[in-house]
Amino acid sequence: MNKCYRGRFAPSPTGPLHFGSLVAAVGSYLDARAHAGEWLVRMEDIDTPRNVPGAAEGILATLEAYGFEWDGPVLWQSQRLAAYAEALARLQVAGLAYGCACSRKEIADSTTRPAIDGGLAYPGTCRSGLPAGRQARAWRLRVGNEELAFEDRLQGRVAQHLEQDVGDFVLCRADGLFAYQLVAAVDDHFLGISDIVRGADLLASTPRQIWLQRCLGFAEPRYAHLPVASNAAGEKLSKQTLAPPLAVESAAAELVRALQFLGQAAPDELRRAPVAEVWAWARERWRFAAIPRVTSVVLTTSG
Ligand SMILES: [Zn+2]
Repeated sequence: MNKCYRGRFAPSPTGPLHFGSLVAAVGSYLDARAHAGEWLVRMEDIDTPRNVPGAAEGILATLEAYGFEWDGPVLWQSQRLAAYAEALARLQVAGLAYGCACSRKEIADSTTRPAIDGGLAYPGTCRSGLPAGRQARAWRLRVGNEELAFEDRLQGRVAQHLEQDVGDFVLCRADGLFAYQLVAAVDDHFLGISDIVRGADLLASTPRQIWLQRCLGFAEPRYAHLPVASNAAGEKLSKQTLAPPLAVESAAAELVRALQFLGQAAPDELRRAPVAEVWAWARERWRFAAIPRVTSVVLTTSG
């Protein structure tokens, strides 16, 4: 057993599992098994207003019906609030996190510099203290004024200049919710994750998580960002683009489709095989090197 490898799949319960999330689950699962490693499931149910009742249970039931076997209990982020608060407090005490009074409109009025993944790069208005008479709405993390780079196993070298490309980013939002970047970094460390295999839609947020890991003194995991499935219009397959939920009765066919999407030479006949047979094929023939080294692949319609 390779005790050094521990991977994870981290769905958000904002709707049922769809093909796009299946690709990430299959890629992370098979990479973990190929390393004789462990594979954990973490439910990212912290973004409470977007959660759909019953979605988390539905996702776990689908994963089970599709033959995924995870190690240990599921980690629920909604039960980890104390750990996130503790990490935020550490950053505040160290002077790395600071209160920000800016509204969205004030930021829009004070800068035109776009952030790398949409919105605007925070111009640092509250960096050296809150403007007189204002109160902190959110907490932001001070970022470095230098390039941050990492070597992705699929995408190669990825570099960002956090101050220019993102700006000091939010750790705790005005509505009191902890930001994705913080909870992901805290939980990956808590779970001892060595390898993160996930969709390339999250590639732009990885330098922020690495920065957080450094600020909190956490080890940096290895990353592999898989191509994401997109439709003919170039939009990522998601709940927003109305990706259909995965049907339990077509598990084998969908798994084969996910394997083929990841460059694996899974034969079409496997689509009608029992799920266990698909997994037996996949675990024996999985080739990481065959995964397309691109961030997005247009999905051709098939059943
Ligand atoms: Zn501010």
